[in-house]
Amino acid sequence: MKSGNSVLSSYGTTIFEVMSRLASQHGAINLGQGFPEGLESERLLGSVSQLMTDGPQQYAPMMGVQELRRAVATHSHRFYGLDIDPETEVMVTSGGTEALADCLFGLIEPGDEVVLIEPLYDSYLPILRRAGAVPRLVRLSPPEWTLPKEELAAAFGPKTKLMILNSPMNPNGKVFTESELAFIADLLVKHDAYCVCDEVYEHQVYDGLRHIPLMTLPGMRDRCLKVGSAGKTFSVTGWKVGHVIAAPHLLQPVAKAHQFITFSTHPGLQIAVAEGLRWDDEYFIGLTRGLQSRRDRLGNGLSAIGFDVLPCAGSYFISADFRALAKRKGFVGDDTEFCRLITMEAGVAAVPVSAFYEDGGVRDYVRFCFAKTEEILDVAVRRLSEYFS
Ligand code: PMP
Ligand code: GLN
Repeated sequence: MKSGNSVLSSYGTTIFEVMSRLASQHGAINLGQGFPEGLESERLLGSVSQLMTDGPQQYAPMMGVQELRRAVATHSHRFYGLDIDPETEVMVTSGGTEALADCLFGLIEPGDEVVLIEPLYDSYLPILRRAGAVPRLVRLSPPEWTLPKEELAAAFGPKTKLMILNSPMNPNGKVFTESELAFIADLLVKHDAYCVCDEVYEHQVYDGLRHIPLMTLPGMRDRCLKVGSAGKTFSVTGWKVGHVIAAPHLLQPVAKAHQFITFSTHPGLQIAVAEGLRWDDEYFIGLTRGLQSRRDRLGNGLSAIGFDVLPCAGSYFISADFRALAKRKGFVGDDTEFCRLITMEAGVAAVPVSAFYEDGGVRDYVRFCFAKTEEILDVAVRRLSEYFS
């Protein structure tokens, strides 16, 4: 029998699926895969159930329903002062993951180089390799996750087509500062490169910090493709409604990939997301505030147990060094084994941070998702505390 594509076949099953399956087999609380529980808005669910009955039920326009494209453009102006043309600069996708794949398939030529920062979301490397690009990886390391500017500059070269930048960052919760963004912007201009900006956690930024889209920096409007996800903004990851914002010369080739991959996304879900994006600031402030207090609740609980919890400025996730606890328990093993152990023995699933590195090089940290009800977080902390006491 002939084999499947060698690039994609070389990857195992994604860690998010692996840990979620293990959690369900063992009845564990799932703080592994990043999905919210108990944060979904009743208002949005009400609208969508009405739309499911009333329709539309057929294919949406390829670029997305007009209402949602307009709402995305208005949202970008309201939060970031961006002037976006909803007719030519917004495309709706089936989730942020599809948006990212469309950007890579739409822009990459075989042999192009792509600069990426580790730790990274697991879809980037397989897709860009399948598109024929060569990755140039720059590593951020715990506990500081400082951007190594010289290494980043050295990763750029004449073959660099684009960079992928994820801020707020999964899994480490880093939010890039304005000066880091300015440094990246200079490199992009110097090397005439584009940036795919994965900003799906744009409304998950804490402690009074502000999310700054790279696209808002001088010279970046026509070089950036800004990716968003309603899954994160409205706590409905199963809906898989995302979008890309980019200047027409960038969006056109990306739309070619989209038209042959999914073509369009559920129209009722799009209309409901458009409604949500039009809500007043109270919703967005409330979302951030609620998540920040959950971050602190889980972080304090984990620290009290003996995890060395790292700071988290954004996203759904906190990561923690488990070495002190492992020692206490006489456990010898890496982060993947530790995650399996706590899922099966303590009844709480997490995700190993090594899964976000190509060579799995960082092995002493695990990632917990705090986008859960306070009750779920408290039970998780209690279970871990009992297990390690
Ligand atoms: N980028 C990052 C950094 C993510 O963590 C995720 C997944 N949650 C996505 C993109 C994809 O978002 P979606 O679920 O909308 O496909
Ligand atoms: N982005 C989510 C996470 O980091 C998971 C997405 C997925 O399961 N593909 O947990």
